[in-house]
Amino acid sequence: MPSLLNVENLCVNYGAIKALRGISFKVNEGEVISLIGSNGAGKTTTLHAISNIIKKAAGKIEFAGEDIASVAPDAIVQRHLIQVPEGRRIFQNLSVRDNLEMGAFTRRDSAAAIKADMENVFELFPRLRERINQVSGTLSGGELQMLAMGRGLMAKPRLLLLDEPSMGLAPILVDEIFEIIQKINKAGTTILLVEQNAFKALAVSDRAYVLETGLITKEGVASDLVKDPAVKAAYLGG
Ligand code: ATP
Repeated sequence: MPSLLNVENLCVNYGAIKALRGISFKVNEGEVISLIGSNGAGKTTTLHAISNIIKKAAGKIEFAGEDIASVAPDAIVQRHLIQVPEGRRIFQNLSVRDNLEMGAFTRRDSAAAIKADMENVFELFPRLRERINQVSGTLSGGELQMLAMGRGLMAKPRLLLLDEPSMGLAPILVDEIFEIIQKINKAGTTILLVEQNAFKALAVSDRAYVLETGLITKEGVASDLVKDPAVKAAYLGG
């Protein structure tokens, strides 16, 4: 079976900095895959390259059998390949409802289908329903993260790219977010997760790749990587 996402020899440079130096990985339909690595390893850059919002120096990116390396970012969204950005880059002066509706902007299906999906988002994130009319800029960090994920879900993702969903959250919220990631996957969405929190990421993933300064240095089944001494030493606090 062909992979849903197939990345080969991806290279990205920022001027003289080689942020990605030829990475290859794949995501099969139904999987949760994580890309773990420390600060500056190139995780966010990888997601931006897939979404085609930064320039690639080289590499092949296939989604559902199609070469999308030069497909425009909005057309990538229309293919249901959806990136949830890090750092809550949502529209701070819009209400929660308006932000969620923005997520459905490129959809061509019925208003009823969109409404049903908003209901699903509220079931996953009850706190967003309570705050539906609140201006997003006044949400807490955790609520903003939920809103960013909810907005991504409103685009009906086939593949969801999650950038550091646990960043800056209190431990109890981190657990909640990872539970929700599993629920989203069980409901049928394939997930590529980028995380510094390797322990949590591996716990919810089928397979994982370790990214170090622009190179993939290790890959495998998540439950094996958790036991790998080098991974333990570098990413799991010994
Ligand atoms: P973090 O977990 O800290 O966000 P990351 O693994 O997501 O890290 P990237 O943000 O992808 O890492 O950055 C990879 C490298 O590219 C870093 O060395 C970073 O400083 C550099 N970089 C990222 N964006 C730019 C940019 N716009 N201009 C120049 N260098 C950049």
